[in-house]
Amino acid sequence: MKLTKPLLIDSPPEKWNFEDLPSYRVSQIQQWVFEKGTLHFEEMSNLPANLRQRLQEEYDLNPMEIAREQGSVDTTQKFLWKLRDHQFIESVLIPATEGTKGVRASRLTLCVSTQVGCALGCKFCASGLDGLKRNLSTGEILGQIILARKKAGRRIDNLVFMGMGEPLANLPALLPALDQILSPDGLGIGARHITLSTSGLVPKILELANYPAQIRLAISLHGGDDETRRKIMPINDRYPMDELLKACEKFIEMRKKMITLEYILIKDINDDVRQAKLLAEHARRLNAKVNLIPYNKVEGLEWERPSQEKILAFKKTVAEGNPPRVTLRMEKGHDIDAACGQLRLRETKSEEPSTS
Ligand code: SF4
Repeated sequence: MKLTKPLLIDSPPEKWNFEDLPSYRVSQIQQWVFEKGTLHFEEMSNLPANLRQRLQEEYDLNPMEIAREQGSVDTTQKFLWKLRDHQFIESVLIPATEGTKGVRASRLTLCVSTQVGCALGCKFCASGLDGLKRNLSTGEILGQIILARKKAGRRIDNLVFMGMGEPLANLPALLPALDQILSPDGLGIGARHITLSTSGLVPKILELANYPAQIRLAISLHGGDDETRRKIMPINDRYPMDELLKACEKFIEMRKKMITLEYILIKDINDDVRQAKLLAEHARRLNAKVNLIPYNKVEGLEWERPSQEKILAFKKTVAEGNPPRVTLRMEKGHDIDAACGQLRLRETKSEEPSTS
C-alpha cells in the first residue's frame, strides 16, 4: 500500500524543518507528542489553526490504530496495532512489583516490536511463522510506547525490545528511536531501563557496542551447544555458539556491562542436565546473568513446556554451576497468547480470504 504522507515522528525534532516555523513551535509540537502523548495535530490547542491545518495536510502523526486489546487476569495487557499500511504488530504491557529491603514499587514494562514478522524463524516463536514482512520505522517503534503509555495512564518504567522481530536487524530505525526514548525532551526513559534482546546477530552486537548509551543486552541462547541450539534457532548456522560467545565477550569488554542469557525451556529439546551445565559454564565465562523462561505453547507448534519438577531441577543444576545469578521467569499473560506474534498471526489469518 502506497502511503502519501510522511510520518512526522520518523524524523527527529531537530529535522522538523517546516519552512519559517520558529523553534518554539517545534518545541510545542515536541511536548505534545512526547510529553502529553498526543498523536493528532488538531488536539494541539496552543498552535494556530492554520498551522495545525498545514501540518495535517503535509504529515501523518499517528503511526497506528488499536486493532485489538487483550487484558489478562494478572493485568498483563496485550495490544494489537494496525499500521498505516494495514500490517499488524503487537506490544505487551507487563506490570510487576519490584524492590528491595521492604521498599516495593509497582513498575510497568512494555515489550516492544521492531519488525512486522521476522526472518529468523526461531522454532518456538509465532512471529517467525510467516517470515518477515518489513522493518518498522522509527516512528512506528516510538508510537507503540507513546500509545501504550496513554492506554496505561501512567509512566512506563522499563522497555524490553523482545516483541515481534529481531531488534538488531533493524538498527537504522531503532537507534534513532532510542535517541528519542532516552532524550529528556523525548520520552525520558533511562538507558538502564532499556533492554535489547537478540537472537545472536554477531556483527550487529559489535555495532551496538559502539552506541553511546548504556542500554542492556540480552542474548537468546536457548541451547548450550551448537547441536541443540541449531534445532531451535536456525541463526546458529550463520553465527555458531563460539562466534556468538566471542562477540558477547567483546561487547562486555567494550561496555563494561553485564549481559543476560535468556533460555527458553522446552520439553525434551533443551531441558536436560547436560544443557544446564553448559549454560552455567557459558554464563560463568561471560559473567552473565541467566534468565530461564518456561516455554509458552504456540498454536500450530508441537513443542511443550517441561514439567514444573523438570524446570526447577534445571534451575538447580544451573545455579550449582555458579553463574552470577539465575532467575526463573514464569511468563505473565500465559492465558492471552503472550508468546510474541500469536495475536498478530490470529488476526492475519482471520483477515485472509476463505479458500473454501
Ligand atoms: S524469537 Fe525473536 S528472533 Fe526468533 S523468530 Fe521470534 S521474533 Fe524472530
